Amino acid sequence: MTSVDNTFAGLAITTAVVKGIQVPIACPTGWCNNDHTDENTQNLDDIDHAGAHIDLMVPNLQGVDDLLFAYARLYQDTYAPDPLMRTPHIRIEFGGGEESYLTPDQADLFAARLAAFAAQLQALAHTARNPGTAGSTEATGC
Ligand SMILES: [Zn+2]
Repeated sequence: MTSVDNTFAGLAITTAVVKGIQVPIACPTGWCNNDHTDENTQNLDDIDHAGAHIDLMVPNLQGVDDLLFAYARLYQDTYAPDPLMRTPHIRIEFGGGEESYLTPDQADLFAARLAAFAAQLQALAHTARNPGTAGSTEATGC
């Protein structure tokens, strides 16, 4: 079974308001945080489903507030023309406003890359704490 085959898996019937009229819709209520009765969309196909944000914040040595690097959330657009967008997927929005939509497999790949990035970041922190030690990953010969 591919991820496209589970378009309707996990969906429950709930209520939305479209043009002021309550209508039944399919919603992944197990993770969707949208209040569809509060949206009052103009078209049924404007309804999408989104889960809670997972934020990645970046601290700053100059003492200013942490910056939002990116956030991720579950997302599903049950009326999208693209069948992949109709299935549950992961939406990542970056601090600059760019977005990426990932299949679960792509999210796993990205998570592995983040883990590798985190390990390299920790190596940089180690080198910054001990700038004269061997094994620096940032040895440039300068
Ligand atoms: Zn929903």
